[in-house]
Amino acid sequence: MKILVTGGAGFVGSNLVARLDALGGHEIVVLDNEVSGARAAIADCAHTFIAGDITDPIAVERAMEGVEAVVHLAADTRVIPSIEAPRFNFDVNVAGSLVILETMRKLGIKRLVNASTGGAIIGDATPPVHEGMVAAPLSPYGASKLAVEGYCSAYAASYGMNAASLRFSNVYGPRSWHKGSVVALFIKQILKGETLTVYGDGGQTRDYVHARDLADGIVAALGSDVSGPVQLGTGIGTPLDEIIDLLREISGEDIAVDYKPFRAGEIVHNWCDIGHARAAIGYDPKIGLAEGLEETWRWFVDNREKLAL
Ligand code: UDP
Repeated sequence: MKILVTGGAGFVGSNLVARLDALGGHEIVVLDNEVSGARAAIADCAHTFIAGDITDPIAVERAMEGVEAVVHLAADTRVIPSIEAPRFNFDVNVAGSLVILETMRKLGIKRLVNASTGGAIIGDATPPVHEGMVAAPLSPYGASKLAVEGYCSAYAASYGMNAASLRFSNVYGPRSWHKGSVVALFIKQILKGETLTVYGDGGQTRDYVHARDLADGIVAALGSDVSGPVQLGTGIGTPLDEIIDLLREISGEDIAVDYKPFRAGEIVHNWCDIGHARAAIGYDPKIGLAEGLEETWRWFVDNREKLAL
């Protein structure tokens, strides 16, 4: 199958491209504007790289030539900047996704796997979050993802497409050098000998899923005809202090931590129910946190010089 991966040079994208390349049997096209990702991240994987923006219909049409399925990962995922500049976030995430859907419609491409999010769409709810919950985004970023899920549903119904929206929980893993999410951030800080800052008492939970388990979920969705939202994660809420303890063990470093007050507006507990993903696409995350964090730590250490850490 010839597959277009938008945002294929980013964190989740590069892990997916590596996975598809390892599985074999697919022709991979990557469309990426390299604003946060970089094509160097997938230099070790067979693919055709197209430098371009999802908001540019000409670049998108060129990238979709001969393609049978699209995995749409390209987005501006920064929550705080979306609050400062909601229009920009809309233009990239919503208008850009409409270019993807419109070009698919024009070219008759019927399969879309769209990257979405559980936490930011559902807002402050009692975990575990799941697809049956009413959406109440707290940020323009969350609203943009909800809007795109709406368009995916509408295009599926109106134009006979299959459009699944995979709601990712907190993803960590190798190839996350540019990420500000907590695992990547803490590893970079440990490597630089910096003190970690915990906003809160360290008891706050998140559902940390390894990027390769997530990539397997995307591949499973591609091989199915599932439409609509599908929550991916592990189903386990892990306190932040547990992440720090594991990193202490793995790195052998004496990690200093500064505890500060919880940040306003932040959700304390969040994890998800992956029952629908298990039933609908046979999703089955396998990588435990100790093993996954060890691999991630090792990846940063091995790439330390290249990353100038
Ligand atoms: N966090 C923290 N210190 C940091 C960065 C993050 O205590 O330097 C906490 C943050 O408050 C949250 C958790 O780590 O409770 C996960 O943060 P991240 O930004 O990775 O994900 P999100 O909050 O968007 O789920």
